[in-house]
Amino acid sequence: MATPPDLALGGVSVHRVVDLDPFVLPFDMIFPGADPAALGSYRAELEGHVDLDRKEVLLAIQTHVVRIAGLTILVDTCVGEHKPRPVRPDWNQRAASGYLDRLAAAGARPEDVDIVLCTHLHADHVGWNTQLRDGRWVPTFPRARYVMGHGELAHWQAAVAKDPTVSHGCFTDSVLPVIEAGQAAPIAPGDSIAEGAMTLALPGHTPGQIGLRIETGQRPVFFCGDAVHTPAQALEPDWSSRFCTDREQSAVTRRALFEQVAAEDAVLVPAHLRAAGMRLRREGSRYRPTMCGCDGSC
Ligand SMILES: [Zn+2]
Repeated sequence: MATPPDLALGGVSVHRVVDLDPFVLPFDMIFPGADPAALGSYRAELEGHVDLDRKEVLLAIQTHVVRIAGLTILVDTCVGEHKPRPVRPDWNQRAASGYLDRLAAAGARPEDVDIVLCTHLHADHVGWNTQLRDGRWVPTFPRARYVMGHGELAHWQAAVAKDPTVSHGCFTDSVLPVIEAGQAAPIAPGDSIAEGAMTLALPGHTPGQIGLRIETGQRPVFFCGDAVHTPAQALEPDWSSRFCTDREQSAVTRRALFEQVAAEDAVLVPAHLRAAGMRLRREGSRYRPTMCGCDGSC
């Protein structure tokens, strides 16, 4: 029997399956030049997401398991195991993480997965795309279509042709084997991947990042990858991370997304959010975040 979902809205359910939590980043590392004092009056809203005293941002590296229209969809696949990531010791050559057991406990054994959606092709979003078997990288999810933006794919193919070590080498060990197995499904933003599940363009963090809008019969749910890293950005929408390819475009994308989520009273699910989701209420130029409850409602 699967564990209860983190979100249940209409006929849709979402489980968070953690690979690594907390993933802690010093504030001035993720948001260079930003002043955490700007968040001082929002301590309660940011509890568990920002440590204002230690000046740290707390993230989770996780997969969202979405069940919609009879399909099992994984949104992003984290860091993975046995991947050489020498620049980042906590991602390097991981083993016995228990991730696949947690995924199975959420009702998603590898053979159950219909679609893997890669919001973008960074090393903390594609790791479990593949696993090491007999010395070779093979797709972890044998039946799945691996959906990714065709612009994102083209960007990284060009980047890897110049420098194979770009983005920790994750294209070679976590994306290429999926393409070679014939399981990659490049799409254009705006394409539907299931009834009630439409992709959307979220450029800036990477050039071809995509998100997913889910219709639930109640409020819609937006999976937005790394267009948003932390609820602190709802309060300071212009803060773009140092990992963004185009920080200005990232801020434009984020503001438009926040505006839409607030206007539709939707649920926003950033890839690294340490909660099921959040809702936003516009207050001047900021958006006040409220985390979804732990009873699956929102
Ligand atoms: Zn990320």
